[in-house]
Amino acid sequence: MINTLPTAGTERTTPAAFHIMLKPRGAICNLDCKYCYFLSKEMLYPGSRFRMATDLLESYTRQYIEAQRVPEVTFAWQGGEPTLMGLDFFRTAIAYQQKYCKPGMRVYNALQTNGTLLDEAWCQFFHDNGFLIGLSMDGPRHLHDVYRVDKGGKPTFDRVLAAARLMQQHKVDFNILTTVHAANAEHGGEVYRFLRDEVMTQFVQFIPIVEREMALHADGNDTGNQEGVAITNRSVTGAQYGQFLNAVFDEWVRRDVGRVFVQIFDVALAAWSGERAGLCVFEETCGAALAMEHNGDVYSCDHFVEPRYKLGNVNDIPLLDMVSSDQQWAFGQAKRTTLPAYCRECEVRFVCNGGCPKDRILMTPDGEPGLNYLCAGYRAFFNHIDAPMKFMAAELRARRPPANIMRHMAQQDAVFAAAKRNDPCPCGSGRKFKHCHARYGSASS
Ligand code: SF4
Ligand code: SF4
Repeated sequence: MINTLPTAGTERTTPAAFHIMLKPRGAICNLDCKYCYFLSKEMLYPGSRFRMATDLLESYTRQYIEAQRVPEVTFAWQGGEPTLMGLDFFRTAIAYQQKYCKPGMRVYNALQTNGTLLDEAWCQFFHDNGFLIGLSMDGPRHLHDVYRVDKGGKPTFDRVLAAARLMQQHKVDFNILTTVHAANAEHGGEVYRFLRDEVMTQFVQFIPIVEREMALHADGNDTGNQEGVAITNRSVTGAQYGQFLNAVFDEWVRRDVGRVFVQIFDVALAAWSGERAGLCVFEETCGAALAMEHNGDVYSCDHFVEPRYKLGNVNDIPLLDMVSSDQQWAFGQAKRTTLPAYCRECEVRFVCNGGCPKDRILMTPDGEPGLNYLCAGYRAFFNHIDAPMKFMAAELRARRPPANIMRHMAQQDAVFAAAKRNDPCPCGSGRKFKHCHARYGSASS
């Protein structure tokens, strides 16, 4: 899961707010999704029971709440599969949250799940305690089941769809997290329509799978770390990711603005409106989105749960000291200071910021390391949405609804539909229509 979080910023201060992704069951999961980057983290803790103890839960809850200097805090539960802890663990978590909550503070819980263990009792609990659930689903059956299988290799689609239906019956707030990978990358429109029309969700995140081959120890065993530049064939390519997002955007911008919320579109609109992206991947720096393992080990980020990124253990070092440490500060700033010149000069740097450091494994055309594996896709997508984003940002500034873009797009589409092949292209490029937008087939291309 990618963090919708504050980042460390560029001025060195103790952060007023930070988020920690909690892994109460460590990397343990009842599924065996083929592209999962976290299952291998089990190797970090040989012999562990992989269960967060209740005294650690209490200590963490107290420290986490005490350290926040904002009126709202969110506990983020992830895994592995956090529901493997059982409901009583989360009832205890709520009790500790109530015990340590400061006057006037609002406490929220967000939980990412594969959905396969949800039943009436879970859904009632989520509803009663206002949990926001992220449900992992990769599209319709024939796309979802390619990689999202259980330990026996059996498909999981029916169980996940049943979880969505159960949450809807219990009025649980949930969004869908869809990973984009080799199997569904060419089906952006189909995936989006399925989520909108069949699952009937209003909130969607599309997360690219960039899965590196596992590094090996000298004895040939896996280290559990993703290193080097070899990418598995389950991964999406940069170009595919751009095409996927463009296909979804083209449908969304014509009929669903204000009705369906796609995380990366919201992030983009914030950036085009001159605000911070609010999603760590596209922020200038990292550092305020950490991860804590089942035993209290704290790491710089969920994507860097590796020995060299361990900050300490919450049983030994106060949480705030780790968050404010030199090591964590350096981790966060490196995202900005290692950005290649190619990115610094890029026309969409204001929204992209070079993407997540974990994916910066390519060379730039002029031979500088540190270009994002997804660059081609990011660049294509952010350029593709430039004109509609400018329009929506202007509507926002004028205190009008961004959804007005849909009427604007309909008018534009009509102009393009009426253009003859040898006419000047209506986009104003100066080229003939046949050499310009007639080739792309879309007014927003
Ligand atoms: S490394 Fe930075 S951008 Fe990537 S997931 Fe972690 S906090 Fe987000
Ligand atoms: S689109 Fe590519 S070149 Fe531009 S900032 Fe993003 S990663 Fe860098």
